[in-house]
Amino acid sequence: MPAVQNVLVVGGGAAGTAVAIRLADAGVAVDLAELKPEPMGVGSGITLQGNALRVLRQLGVWEQVQAAGYAFDSLGLRAPDPAGTLLVEMPDDRTGGPDLPATVGMPRPELARILLERAADAGVKVRFGRTVTGLEQDGDGVDVTFADGSRGRYDLVVGADGIRSSVRRLLGVELDTKAVGMGIWRTFGPRPAGVTRTDLFYGGPSYIAGYCPTGENSLYAYIVEPAQDRSTLSDEQRLSTMKQLAEAYHGPWDEIRENLTDPSRVNYTWFETHVLPAPWNRGRVVLIGDAAHSCPPTVAQGAAMALEDGAVLADLLLGGERVDDELWDAFTARRFERASTVVEASNQLCTWLLNNERGDVPGLMHRVAQTVSSPA
Ligand SMILES: Cc1cc2nc3c(=O)[nH]c(=O)nc-3n(C[C@H](O)[C@H](O)[C@H](O)COP(=O)(O)OP(=O)(O)OC[C@H]3O[C@@H](n4cnc5c(N)ncnc54)[C@H](O)[C@@H]3O)c2cc1C
Repeated sequence: MPAVQNVLVVGGGAAGTAVAIRLADAGVAVDLAELKPEPMGVGSGITLQGNALRVLRQLGVWEQVQAAGYAFDSLGLRAPDPAGTLLVEMPDDRTGGPDLPATVGMPRPELARILLERAADAGVKVRFGRTVTGLEQDGDGVDVTFADGSRGRYDLVVGADGIRSSVRRLLGVELDTKAVGMGIWRTFGPRPAGVTRTDLFYGGPSYIAGYCPTGENSLYAYIVEPAQDRSTLSDEQRLSTMKQLAEAYHGPWDEIRENLTDPSRVNYTWFETHVLPAPWNRGRVVLIGDAAHSCPPTVAQGAAMALEDGAVLADLLLGGERVDDELWDAFTARRFERASTVVEASNQLCTWLLNNERGDVPGLMHRVAQTVSSPA
């Protein structure tokens, strides 16, 4: 018999849906509380590396992801010169195994829809517009109070509620989330025919300019700059700022910039990071995904780590008989070092860029790929 019979998952992102689907498939009763009032309608794109695809295949959604996204197997580095010169095209490691592409780009709302629908099909009771306000636990379970005043008792609560996790706060866990000193402009638009993989432009007036195809007709593009307060800009000003920053980049960027016309498609966020020291549980409440570790997206592994956390946690709960220290030690052994390695590598790339140091970027990316190539 699994270690748990009924579980509350707080947060319906990659981490939360992964653990929920695996548990529900095995017959565990799962409630999922998602703060948003409805599934994500608009959003940017996401780069999913092979190790993320491996988990998505385990979750039974690989065919849907493949159909909704754009697969590719290499990474280009380009110069910030008037021709956008291609410096090198590097084959990407297939970290999910030889039968999965190295990378798939896809629209974030599509990934969210696929995972949430799969969770509902598996029997997970997904409730939107719902969150928790109280957690009280004893040796056998957790009494949960929801924001609407209703209550429930669960064998386990999974806090998969992202970087500013409320579950973490309710547990009284102090965690210092740091800004790394960079901000990213992102936009979502039509894919120029010539964009068939991610290209990164390092240098020029910004730290990085890049893009990733997310479908036959779509891509997301981004520019990373020194972090600054952009909160007072109007929508039109945000659009013109991103366009202006993009003027330094050419090749496919010329067409991407031309297509940059919709202010509602432009988004600005700071890069932030944290790693919660192990263990990530307090009794029968555990934090996974960005709630436990978060990194700037410089190696595009955040969602992969979140999916892996969810899948590994479910494996251990289904394979174990009790929620005890042995289970949490096994979870730490399989997740802490791997996720910390990814966070450190992502931060290292930022440090090199911030200090204008010439680091071994391909070498670091290859080391991350080797780390995540073995199944989590
Ligand atoms: C600019 C940027 C670009 C990125 N690009 C990539 C990329 O290309 N590839 C990649 O792998 N990773 C990328 N990442 C990282 C990736 O987005 C995250 O690591 C990943 O989404 C974490 O998944 P999660 O499920 O832990 O958290 P989230 O995706 O944040 O999901 C948490 C969920 O919990 C919900 N929630 C929040 N609070 C509550 C609450 N109190 N109660 C109930 N529900 C709640 C939220 O609405 C959300 O649905 C990027 C991150 C940033 C900032």
